[in-house]
Amino acid sequence: MTDPTVGPEAVSHARDTRIVHAGHRPTDHHGAVNPPVYHVSTITFPTVDDMAAKQAHKLDAVYYGRMGTPTTQSLDQTVAELEGGHWCVSVCSGMAAVTGALMALLKAGDHMLMTDSVYWPSRSLCDTLLCNMGIKTTYYDPQIDGPGLTALMRPNTRVVFLESPGSLTFETQDVAALAAAAHAGGAHVLLDNTWASPILFRPFDHGVDLSIQAATKYIVGHSDAMLGTVTMRDRALFERVKTTAVQLGYSVGAEEAYLGLRGLRTLAVRLRQHQANGLAVARWLQGRPEVARVLHPALPEDPGHALWRRDFSGACGLFGVLLRPGPSPDAMAAFLDGLALFRMGFSWGGYESLVIDTTRSITRTAAPWTHDGPSLRLHVGLEDPADLIADLDAGFARMAARDAS
Ligand SMILES: *Cc1c(COP(=O)(O)O)cnc(C)c1O
Repeated sequence: MTDPTVGPEAVSHARDTRIVHAGHRPTDHHGAVNPPVYHVSTITFPTVDDMAAKQAHKLDAVYYGRMGTPTTQSLDQTVAELEGGHWCVSVCSGMAAVTGALMALLKAGDHMLMTDSVYWPSRSLCDTLLCNMGIKTTYYDPQIDGPGLTALMRPNTRVVFLESPGSLTFETQDVAALAAAAHAGGAHVLLDNTWASPILFRPFDHGVDLSIQAATKYIVGHSDAMLGTVTMRDRALFERVKTTAVQLGYSVGAEEAYLGLRGLRTLAVRLRQHQANGLAVARWLQGRPEVARVLHPALPEDPGHALWRRDFSGACGLFGVLLRPGPSPDAMAAFLDGLALFRMGFSWGGYESLVIDTTRSITRTAAPWTHDGPSLRLHVGLEDPADLIADLDAGFARMAARDAS
């Protein structure tokens, strides 16, 4: 939860200043700079009256560990303020944020429009658990325009789900146009805003109702905790999402909430370096003969560049690379296995560089994915970009040597 009186309207400082001070109330904690880590399940009440009073406001009060503690409430306030919302519900992972938000808004018989470029576990949720509960999903081309989306709306479409840029393929969506079409048809607009973190895209200025963060990524920022957030401006939506999260039992661990808050304070400086390093590596890759295309909306050659310039205030370090057809699976393995700095692993948003082979992971049902060569996803970390480029350069040499032998 958060207090609307410290919402964005009350704050006029620059973004870097807000990151340091958002949700910050040292006077609540004897002046300590950071809030204490509350390890707590049971909250005790001194009197019957006090218990009743807290129960009457249990979505906002410190009432029971599963529903929030001063540590999680501090995280909620900070994320809400940075993302431009009034309320935030933190949960135990990014997937819990996706699932909790959808379960709060959908019931049997409802229909949802989902971007074809969505994070694969979200797609899997729609195709199995939600489908089994009688909630139907139609996937749409991530590049669809407002009229195109309107044509897909049904009388029972309750949610339009966006992710921009999309997972693995990085298409940028016209969020404002799609949100207008969704609202005209009576649906809520959910955005998985993880790529932008809470600071590179302002979801509520573009018509989004619920903004989801896999806080595991850049908010935590150090690959050491699982965390998710759902942020909104509307109090009624907050109550629905918070109630659902509590029912599902998605409570946030005390240490995780603390690590999320601690990571947030350095988000702006980290992202500036991720952006600069990422673009240096991306531009170098564009010049490589092995590379067909780099999928990065901050590059002027990217089809989403105009929208990115219009809507975003920066880029993170995550992007895709399409290789020209040719390298054998053995050559791809030679490239990946020998990398010294880029490690292979899921997730991203930490200080370290990561790579995964996405050749067989891009799933499309609405718009065909036509690239027929291998593909990669890179997360460019905070290392010196010259060292990262040398690491990839040596990888391309191993790749060529393997297929030549
Ligand atoms: C990682 C990720 C998630 C899920 O977050 P977890 O914390 O791993 O559950 C959701 N959406 C996007 C876009 C992600 O990259």
